[in-house]
Amino acid sequence: MKENESPKLIAIVEDDPDVARIIEQSLADFGFRTTWCRNGGDLLRKLRTMAPDLCIIDLGLPDMDGIEAMQRVKAQSACGLLILTGRTHVSDRVMGLELGADDYVLKPFEPRELVARVRSILRRRESTSSTGSKQLAEFSGWRFNMGNNTLSSPKGDETVLSTSEAELLKVFVTHPNRILQREQLMGTRDLSPTDRSIDVRISRLRRKLEPDEQSQAFIKTVYGAGYLFMATVNWKKSAKPE
Ligand code: CA
Repeated sequence: MKENESPKLIAIVEDDPDVARIIEQSLADFGFRTTWCRNGGDLLRKLRTMAPDLCIIDLGLPDMDGIEAMQRVKAQSACGLLILTGRTHVSDRVMGLELGADDYVLKPFEPRELVARVRSILRRRESTSSTGSKQLAEFSGWRFNMGNNTLSSPKGDETVLSTSEAELLKVFVTHPNRILQREQLMGTRDLSPTDRSIDVRISRLRRKLEPDEQSQAFIKTVYGAGYLFMATVNWKKSAKPE
């Protein structure tokens, strides 16, 4: 962390005080500020006056499902989202990623691993917003503003992509018409190439870009090799710099 940067604020939404304390301590050791929310309602109340850079949300909360808490956070904040889950079912994690979480960590976790994930999400968010703050990619009538992660359809409908979706689309638009291996698409995440989350993100992005779920007009799957983004991309300076 650079000295002139104010410490990032991380909201921890976890009903187990012991787990919350471990997370708070580990993050504090790495220079983060933290705020502990005992449940989803507590977090939503705090969001009225605080702007955390990232929320760590336990999926098993007493007052609402963590997925619901996450969606409500997304509706009012552009912060990063890390899911913490003790659930063994893959479907919960996949659902969390589908709904826009940046990553997930399984309980029980190694505190340093959790901190590493938090830092990785924050780094990705920063690189997405700083390298692309004035850049607008146009392809087949679509416009992708890398400064604010906004994707506009040829009809003019706007969608704000999640950090992970935006990161993926950024790799695609900067490397069009080339086979990209899964490793190249995973960015800075420490994931194994067999991790399903890359496929989840591809399908989420396809749903926003393609006329129907089965279509591969832009993002083609190249079996055994990776993915290919088929488009002619033109670059513009954004009309609305940050
Ligand atoms: Ca819990």
